[in-house]
Amino acid sequence: MLVSRDKKNIWHPFTQHYIADNPIVITRAKGASLFDESGKEYIDLVSSWWVNIHGHAHPTIAQAISEQAHKLEHVMFAGFTHEPAIRLAEALLDIAPAYQKVFFTDNGSTATEVALKMAYQYWHNQGIKRQRFVAFEGAYHGDTFGAMAVGKTSGYYAPFFDLLLDVTFLPFPSTWLGDDTLEEKEEAALKALDQYLKTHGDETAALIIEPLVQGASGMNMCRPSFTEAVFRKCKKAGVLTIADEIMTGFGRTGTLLACDQLNGIYPDFICLSKGITGGFLPLAVTLCRNSIYEAFLDATYAKALTHGHSYTANPLACAAALAGLEIFEKEQTLDKISALSLAQSQHANKLKNLKSISRIRQQGTILAFDVTGLSTQNFHKFKQMVIESGLNIRPLGTTVYILPPYCLTLEQLHQAYDRVIDYISILSEE
Ligand SMILES: *Cc1c(COP(=O)(O)O)cnc(C)c1O
Repeated sequence: MLVSRDKKNIWHPFTQHYIADNPIVITRAKGASLFDESGKEYIDLVSSWWVNIHGHAHPTIAQAISEQAHKLEHVMFAGFTHEPAIRLAEALLDIAPAYQKVFFTDNGSTATEVALKMAYQYWHNQGIKRQRFVAFEGAYHGDTFGAMAVGKTSGYYAPFFDLLLDVTFLPFPSTWLGDDTLEEKEEAALKALDQYLKTHGDETAALIIEPLVQGASGMNMCRPSFTEAVFRKCKKAGVLTIADEIMTGFGRTGTLLACDQLNGIYPDFICLSKGITGGFLPLAVTLCRNSIYEAFLDATYAKALTHGHSYTANPLACAAALAGLEIFEKEQTLDKISALSLAQSQHANKLKNLKSISRIRQQGTILAFDVTGLSTQNFHKFKQMVIESGLNIRPLGTTVYILPPYCLTLEQLHQAYDRVIDYISILSEE
């Protein structure tokens, strides 16, 4: 039995093993579908932790990895380089022309660590003391120490509070359909930012934000105009800005980057990961401008960025990422994203009639809502019914969200909502 062997030896992430259900053993996957040992199908409505964008086991990406593996699987990335990384850097800077340099890492947390370290050392290298970071309440930026510090209020890190860097958190104006307190909340949040910048602006290395959507703390969404106003104010105050687009990147919010919705205002750094390889291999990048890069140039090593990982810019991962970008062209993925986004907004409208849910919100291909009208017991039942019926939906607390791979058909999406609505309705009446 694979499950008992798993339970004997494996400690899973974000899992309380004392009460967790047995994990489902997945043996293969195709398109939006996962298949377990018995052949049962699960529609992957959360893109396997938000990484899978083109569908599982996509042949174009599989082929690219295979070809690259036969040519060059890996080489250290200091003192050496390779064509897949060079081509990928060019392709990413084409997508994000506000930037000129790409720093490779191998997961989202380290991409944000690198942005924080670059921002801090940028000032340090110029003999300027700016030791503060500012972030948003509810933000999530990864699980390493720097990332935990700027994500302290995400709800995951209480045991570590005493060890974390001191970060200031500003209110995040979370909004939803029919929210009539939005203007007030935005105004208060921007006022808090103004106040912060006035008192601490010249001690602050950088501000970090998840543009448009805070993912892991519960799919909290804000208007693009809010993120834009934040970047404008920081720029004016001389504070560097970091957009954590690890979840929002590669089309998730309807545009290739969430920051593409900010009327031409781009932050100083953008972190990308998750969808970058189509969900095949770990890879991440931190993009920055030459003006940042140049502050690290010097005849001595002391000003260099002393950061790197064994698997930095792994050629297989770079080949997968290049193939993923090729799919965007070949399969007109942006059109699929538009169609899914439109369908999500139609479903959002239908959900309004369901009385046990609240705060329906949508940004591009992501739709989320809070299940507020079920007992704890029935909410647990709901989660079990969903998975048993062959839908991979994993709520964050009581927030249910659907964040599908872009290959999901509108019919599959429709059927999923029918079932979700059914189950919630049945359980509300119990
Ligand atoms: C997932 C995520 C991270 C962390 O990425 P990992 O690859 O899991 O380390 C950071 N920021 C955001 C916004 C994320 O969604």
